Formats: sequence, C-alpha cells, structure tokens
Amino acid sequence: MDDKPVMLIVDDVEINRVVLAQFFQDDFTILEAENGQQALDIMEEQPVSIVLVDLVMPVMDGYEFLSVLQRNDQYQGLPVVVMTAQSDGDSEVRAMELGAADFITKPCNPTIVRCRVRNVMGRTENEWRRIEQLASDRQMMEMTRFIEQDQLTGAYNREAFYKKASQLMLEHRDTLYEIVYLDIDCFKVVNDLFNLETGNLILKTAGYFLQVLVGNRGLCCRMEADHFVLCMPRDHVKPETLLEALDGAVASLNISHSIVFYAGIYEVDNPLLAVDQMCDRARMAMSKVKGNYMQRYGVYDESMRELMLEEQMIARDMEFALQSKQFSIFVQPIYDTLLGKVVSAEALVRWQHPLKGLISPARFIPVFERNGFIVRLDRYVWEEVCKMMVQLRETTGMVIPVSVNVSRLNLYNLDLLDFLMGLVKKYQLSPELLHLEITETAYTRNPQQLVDEVNMFRQNGFKIFMDDFGNGYSSLNMLKDLPVDTLKIDLGFVQNVEFSGRAGIIMKSVVDMADKLGMEVVVEGVENQAQLNFVRSVGCRVIQGYYYSKPLPADEFWQMQAKGRGTIQ
Ligand code: C2E
Ligand code: CA
Ligand code: CA
Repeated sequence: MDDKPVMLIVDDVEINRVVLAQFFQDDFTILEAENGQQALDIMEEQPVSIVLVDLVMPVMDGYEFLSVLQRNDQYQGLPVVVMTAQSDGDSEVRAMELGAADFITKPCNPTIVRCRVRNVMGRTENEWRRIEQLASDRQMMEMTRFIEQDQLTGAYNREAFYKKASQLMLEHRDTLYEIVYLDIDCFKVVNDLFNLETGNLILKTAGYFLQVLVGNRGLCCRMEADHFVLCMPRDHVKPETLLEALDGAVASLNISHSIVFYAGIYEVDNPLLAVDQMCDRARMAMSKVKGNYMQRYGVYDESMRELMLEEQMIARDMEFALQSKQFSIFVQPIYDTLLGKVVSAEALVRWQHPLKGLISPARFIPVFERNGFIVRLDRYVWEEVCKMMVQLRETTGMVIPVSVNVSRLNLYNLDLLDFLMGLVKKYQLSPELLHLEITETAYTRNPQQLVDEVNMFRQNGFKIFMDDFGNGYSSLNMLKDLPVDTLKIDLGFVQNVEFSGRAGIIMKSVVDMADKLGMEVVVEGVENQAQLNFVRSVGCRVIQGYYYSKPLPADEFWQMQAKGRGTIQ
C-alpha cells in the first residue's frame, strides 16, 4: 500500500461509495464498507485517517457507529464526516453530540465535500496544498456552482451547460467532441408505478454516475426530467460501454422495473454551432432509436433534419387537429374465408391535415408515442368506434366486433380499465365487441405487469389481440405465459422467406401452437391469391389484407355492412 492517508467510506448504496471514491482516489487510499459493523471490522484490521459515514444503513447505522467510536478510546480524535440525505437539524445535532466532525448533505457536491474533508483533517498536510489553492475562493465557487447546478443531481443545468460546453469546445479546437443525449424510456411510468423518491433516486444515481464518467474531460448536464446531456471528446468512451455501465449503476438500486436508457450522438463538426442546436441534433438521433429493442443508440446524420422539421410540425398541430376533428377513422374488414363473410374489422386512424393532405399513421403515431399524445388520440379513436357501433346497431339491429389499437403508453396507465369500462357502459355495448390490440413490446418491457393486465381485461369481458406477432423478439417464449385470445400474424413475418418450405414450417408451427393454447389466429397483409393459398395451406382461415379490402373510410364500411355486403363474392 502507498503512503497516502486512508479514507473509509461507509454507505450501503454502492453507487454513493463509487462516486465518493472517485472524488478522493487521488489523495487517499480508499476503503469501503456497507454498514457500521463492517466499518468497525475493517478498522480493527488497519488504521484509517478519516471516515465518511452515511446515517441510514442496515445492520449498524451511522449513529450506532458513532457511539461505538465515542466509547472507544482507540478512536478518539479520528475525524468522522457524516452524510445525510437531507439537511435536517435533528439528525445533525444528534450526530454532532456523538462526536461527528462535520456534515455533508447528499447529493454530494464535489467541491463542498473536498473542502469539508480538508477542513476536518487540518490544513497542515502537504497533500492538501494543491486543493487549498483550487478552493482558495471557496465561497465564490460554491455560489457559482449553486447557480449553475441542477439541485437534484449536481450536474450542470441547461443554461450553464450551453455556456460551458461552448467554451470547452472553443478552447480545445484540436479535440473532436461529441454531444450525447440520454433519455429513459417511459420514465413517467416509473414515477406512476413507484413514487417520486424512487424516480429521484434513479435520476440522482444516473446523474452522479455520468458526472464521474465524463470526469474532467467533459461536461454533464441534466436538461430536464430524465434527459441528460454530455459533452465529451469523441474518444472518451464508446456508446455501448457508456450504456452498459449506466445500466449497471441503475441496476444496483434493485428497482423491480427495467430502466432502459437510449442515447443519441451528435459528432460536433462545427464547434461554432449553437450548443442548443447540437443538443437538438443529438436528441433527434436518440428519438430514432427510442423504444427500439435491438438498438439503444443512434448517431445524427443530415437526413434527420427533415425528419425533425416534420416532427415539429406534427407536435405543433396535433392539439388543434384533435379538437377540430382532423383525425378520422378508417376501417379494414377482417374476413373468415371459411364462412365467406366479414367477422370483424380493425379501426385505423388517419390524419386529414388541411395543408398536408392525408397523413399516414406510420408518420405521426411514433411521434405521438414519444410525446405522449397517443394516450389521448387512442381514447378518442375508441370512443368514435363505440359511437359508430351504436349507429350501426340502431340502423340495422346488428353489430360486429371492432379491433382498436392500444398503444403501450396507454397500457401503462392505471386507469385504462376504468376508462374502457366507462366507455362500454356509456354506449351500452358488450365489452367483447371491443378487441384490444396490443403489441409484444409491452411484454418484453415488463412481462408480469402485462400478464396481470391482460388477465384483468379478459375477466372484464374484453378480447385481447396480440398485434404484429412475430415481428418482435420474444414471441414464442411469451405465448406460454400471456393468455391472449387471438394472435395477429403479420405476413411480413414470413414474407422474406418467399413462401419457401421454411416459411411454411414456421407459420405452421405458430398456428399449431396457437391452436394448442386455445388462441385464434388472424393473418394480416394478405395481398394476392398466392399469399392467400399459402396461408390457407398452413391452416389459417381468418384474414385481413388488401386482397379482400384496403382500410375504408368508416362511413363507407358501415354502409357496406348495413347493406349486408360483407360476404365474399
Ligand atoms: P397495425 O396495427 O399493424 O395495422 C395494420 C396495418 O397494415 C395498417 O396500416 C393497414 O392499412 C396495413 N395493411 C392491412 N392490410 C395490408 C396489406 O395487405 N398489405 C400491406 N402492405 N399493408 C396492409 P396503417 O393503417 O397505415 O397503420 C399503421 C400502423 O399505425 C398500425 O399498424 C398501428 O400500429 C398504427 N395505428 C393505426 N391506427 C392507430 C390507432 O388508432 N392507435 C394506435 N396506437 N396505433 C394506430
Ligand atoms: Ca393493429
Ligand atoms: Ca398489425
């Protein structure tokens, strides 16, 4: 061991120890303990020069630890700095009475921690001279830092980051920098499912970790909510490594919900560009991959600019569009080829934009999924569908079930069942007339939660359809656990195999398995006779596809139904 003084860090949260160890590793030999008892065991073995101790810990907390030290002559004079989660007078007084030398309030500000540690250890030692100089204008620095800091995580706030990042890049023109934008997928869900403290704990942990990671080569900022931005030399750390390590830091909190970070990278080619625009570009690269199971980061390229402009247009116009009924419902029939008639239909939304014309959902749904608007649009669509069913029932005395799409953001909403029950009650419809189409991404994120929800919906009479089955990741695995009523298989799932023997085998085994599990199958995307022959040959009889009908304006579809033209000629 070298002759640096020894610092013992006692905290049950690993990431806190890691962060503090980073602050002090140049000046001290660091030892770590998870609780007071472990700390005492270590101190039996070897002398330490200073202890940083958390107050709240399992086994032996900070108070008990302090009182053991107070009772033991051997430890008289040993400086102990106490870390409290919040500045609260009572615990400080109590710890002070038990001999604590000073306090640090978490989240730890590096400058303050260093100054406190330096003060309690005395100013004479050589190794502190350097720090002494650095902190010569300590109060001034603390004040400036306070103004520049995000109070929750200690990272830079947005304004300070814009200023500092620009300075950094201009001062080091020979270094190539990148801006990395990080965002947690569906963070709102974490706040809804758990509580604000848990959400804050995740943000603090991520914030500390990222600050340590950029170190003094870059800058870390918390833009807002769960959005962090880094500015660092391009060669500092690979994106895969960064995400992996970040996952590790957050995983150490043992939260029973997967926290998934996505990253977008803008490689700065012009350091004179405004930093907010750099951040926009990195964010754009991030939003291209967000929600994607296979790819967790994206790198900005020029083609994303147009995309961003379109996205801005969509976000700007959506609210007014909903109010002024620019969203209309198209309906695509679903045929049973054996019965030779329409057995149900799927409602698909369209946007009739006054200037841009008809916009396809493929363009606006992903934007709404990112900004949360999909929750309201989906609910609007469901209600319109209910109104149409009532109309059809009143004119013809009969009605067919209609599938509606349920975005995974809606699935996470705790009041979803209440909303749907309210809807069917309001329009006096039986719940089994609404087929709820969900996608398997919801499953891969949080299997148990989805299984519970699906059970709940089915108990209340709704039918659950697994949409786009086969496009995702864990489909086959999922089948045995997830009790859905119907699988919708996208023909694209086997299409690229060109209906070879292999495609047949895959389809056949899915159909057989669904059959064994008591699930129905609908095949989507059947466009021609050859495809129809193929799907029928593997035992599928219910079909949704252009071969029979494209999605039709709702009025047209219902009129057709009313005239009884749902049969296949
Ligand atoms: P989806 O739920 O898988 O819907 C089926 C899509 O396949 C529809 O595209 C439909 O027009 C298309 N399709 C049907 N038959 C064929 C065919 O034979 N060949 C081909 N090439 N395509 C066919 P659409 O209407 O453009 O919708 C795209 C996606 O947008 C939907 O995929 C769904 O994920 C989403 N979407 C549409 N309406 C809503 C909605 O109200 N809420 C939500 N959350 N998502 C919606
Ligand atoms: Ca669908
Ligand atoms: Ca589908």
